[in-house]
Amino acid sequence: MSGTPPVDRLDGLLAPHANRVELTGPLRSLAFPNRCANCGVATTGRLPVRKVFARNAGYRRWASSRRYAGYRIDTARVPYCHACLAQDARERDSLALRWRRRLGGMLIRFFPAVFPLGFAVYLLATIEPPTHPGDPAGGFERALALVCALSGAGLLAYAWWDTRNCMVPKQTNVTLAFDFSPDVSDILDHAQRRIYAMRDAAFADAFTALNRDRIWRPDPAAVRAEKRVWIACLVFLALAAIGAAVLNG
Ligand SMILES: [Zn+2]
Repeated sequence: MSGTPPVDRLDGLLAPHANRVELTGPLRSLAFPNRCANCGVATTGRLPVRKVFARNAGYRRWASSRRYAGYRIDTARVPYCHACLAQDARERDSLALRWRRRLGGMLIRFFPAVFPLGFAVYLLATIEPPTHPGDPAGGFERALALVCALSGAGLLAYAWWDTRNCMVPKQTNVTLAFDFSPDVSDILDHAQRRIYAMRDAAFADAFTALNRDRIWRPDPAAVRAEKRVWIACLVFLALAAIGAAVLNG
């Protein structure tokens, strides 16, 4: 509800560079200067930098629950020169290490799939082929085996999908030169909004100038609208409490 960026809740989510700007709109439509974000030399090279965020990482604490809400992977295509790309490749977690992490996570998640898949195999193995034309052909067992196999396959697919964060390399000294926060927009905002933190002041100035149309300024009307929503919620809760008291009394 306040106009200043609530930086404290981004602790650990965003590099602590002093050069920051808060921009509206999606990551993929950012405009970047043709210079390396790390060392400042001219370049047309781009590095897709991925970050894993908890689904509600950027939102206010009272709007989120403690329940596991999944995660999302966001990508920004940041300009880096050849030398810095090479340095990033040297510092980055190896592909083998990331796969090891992922396989470890997948094995744990595969475990529940053993039961439906095992039962499906058992059912198929116990169906006896009809010896006479009039005998039941085991249609029910086949259908049950199919349902079990599908649920097992669903669990395997979920294990695959839920471990894709393991493949995102940890940020390196190079990728930390240009860092981005999760979406910090509020419930009533129309567009997503992120805070960008940059190590190099000259790069930050060029980046901010290129995206000046997107610099976020709090809209007083939206703040008032949000206040009205919260007041309405409080009034509703108070009325509900009074109603409950009257009904019980
Ligand atoms: Zn560079």
